[in-house]
Parts: sequence; C-alpha cells; structure tokens
Amino acid sequence: MTLRLVLLGPPGVGKGTQGRRLATEHGWPLISTGEMLREAVARRTPLGVEAQRLMDAGQLVGDDVMIGLVKERTGQSDAEAGFVLDGFPRTVPQADALDAMMGERGRTLDSAVSLTAPRDELVRRMSARRECPVCKRAYNLVSWPPKDGVHCDDHPTVELYQRADDAPETVVRRLEVYARDTAPLMEYYRRRGRLREVEGLGTMDAVYGSMIRALGL
Ligand code: AMP
Repeated sequence: MTLRLVLLGPPGVGKGTQGRRLATEHGWPLISTGEMLREAVARRTPLGVEAQRLMDAGQLVGDDVMIGLVKERTGQSDAEAGFVLDGFPRTVPQADALDAMMGERGRTLDSAVSLTAPRDELVRRMSARRECPVCKRAYNLVSWPPKDGVHCDDHPTVELYQRADDAPETVVRRLEVYARDTAPLMEYYRRRGRLREVEGLGTMDAVYGSMIRALGL
C-alpha cells in the first residue's frame, strides 16, 4: 500500500526508532533529515560544514536548505510508493513547502503522526541514547542496551557513539526550539484533519502497536 507520512514529536520521543521499523516493515524509505545532515557533516560537504555549527548549538538549519533536500529526496523513485519522513517538517514554512511539493506532483500527504512523552522522560532518553555509526541502529543504555554494553550487536567491533547534540546543554536548547518552532505543527495538521496522536511511552512494541492502530494499518 501507499502511505506518505510525517512523524512529529519532540527530540528523544522515538521518531527514528519507530519510523525505521514502520518503514522497513512496509517497504517505504525512511527519510530522516537529521540523518542526512549527519552524513553531510561526516563527509565534510559544504552543507555539512554549515549545518554542523547549527546542529551542535541545537538550532535548526535554514528552511530553504531543508526544503531543497527533501524535495530532491522525496522525488527519487524509491519514494514513489510512499515514505516516512522523520524530522521534517520542523517549521510551518517547511510544512507549507511539503504540501506544495506534493501538490505539484499530484500527491497528498496522508497523515502526521505525533508521538508524545513528558519532558523529563525525553531528557532521560536523550542522555542514554547511543547509535551505531555503521548501521545507525539506535540503542538506549538503560532500556535497550547493546549485548556487551559497548558495541553494536550487529557490528561487534564497532563502538556505539553519543550524538554531539545529545549533550545536556544542547538537549535543553533543542527542547526550547521544538516548543517554539515545531510544536505549532500539531495544530497545523489537526486543522487539516491529518493528525494522529500516539503516546510515546511504554515499550517499543507497545508504541509501535499504537501507531499501527492509529494509522489503520
Ligand atoms: P534530528 O536527528 O531529527 O534530531 O535532527 C538533528 C538536528 O538536525 C536538529 O537539531 C537540527 O539542527 C537539524 N535538522 C534536522 N532536520 C531539520 C529540519 N527539518 N529543519 C531544520 N533543521 C533540521
């Protein structure tokens, strides 16, 4: 089936984890703008050099740059039968641009899933969050640790790392930026009848189950 979906929610709520599973199980690409930027940073492209400063400070990268990236990526052939967008849109201009680019292609965005969790839980999760640099698999040192506590289960010689922007001061800034720039998108999609709210608390399986039900999948 075809589904074009955006995942909304504060940093640390589990968009990446749930989005990856949803996309993998249904054969849609997961389009994570944070991931695209981190790759550009690692490759030291001009975009990466510019984005790194903003990301490390917990600020957003400019709308024009992000809209260009998503326009290009959602236009690729693997996104024709649907996609899961994680981390975009993050501002009202980005949401408007997404609607416009879908419209130009004769498509529509089906749903916006909003994952929610209390602030102290988000802070706890982000401080314990780790990632495999090779396969990007997400771990949590408290609730979902790797088998040996240090390395990726699928890449036993590769050590997990903590994202630079998961440092405590940056986490506070990112939550502020979320409240100011991104939280208004819930109302944006609610008014258009496309918002599906899902509580992001509980086990990964429980949250996934709620999300599937909310989407009628
Ligand atoms: P994420 O992995 O989604 O938490 O994104 C990490 C960082 O990348 C964010 O804190 C922003 O600095 C940047 N970023 C990701 N997506 C966007 C976007 N749609 N608009 C602006 N900045 C973004």
